[in-house]
Amino acid sequence: MIYIRHTTCADPTGLVATYAHELQHFIQHRRSARLLRANNVLYFNLKQFEPNATASDIPTEREANIVSKRVAEAVCGEEAVNAFADAQVRLMESLGNEEQKDRWVFFRDVSSSTGYDVLGSTVSFVERYRTVMDFGFDVSQPEWWLGPLED
Ligand SMILES: [Zn+2]
Repeated sequence: MIYIRHTTCADPTGLVATYAHELQHFIQHRRSARLLRANNVLYFNLKQFEPNATASDIPTEREANIVSKRVAEAVCGEEAVNAFADAQVRLMESLGNEEQKDRWVFFRDVSSSTGYDVLGSTVSFVERYRTVMDFGFDVSQPEWWLGPLED
C-alpha cells in the first residue's frame, strides 16, 4: 500500500513525484528484495558511521529520487518540478528540518538524466560496513543480492 498525505496530493507535482518515488521502491523490491533490505539497514545505521550522511546517500533512495524526478518532469514539466523542489527546500528550511531539506536539495539539483548504479553503490557500502552492520543474511557470499529473502 502506498499512502500519500492529502497535503502532498494538493500539489499535482508533489503527488506525481511522491507516487513515482514510492513505486520505484516496489520495483526495487521486485528486482532484488535482498538489495532493498541491505539498503534499509544502511538507511537506519549509516549515520552512526558517517554523521554527514543523508537519506539521499542511500542507493535505493538516490535512485528513487532520480527516477521520480524524471517521471515528474515528463508528466508535469521541468518548470513545475523546479518550482516544486524550490518550494520544498524553502519549506524545510523554514521548519528547520535539515534532513528533509537535504533530501529536497538533492532532488532539486540532481539531473533527472543521471545514470545511477544502485547495485554497484550498494555493494560498495555493504563491503565497507559488513563487519559492523547486521544485514540479516550472509553478505560475504558472492552475489549475495540474488535469491529470495528468508524471514
Ligand atoms: Zn524512499
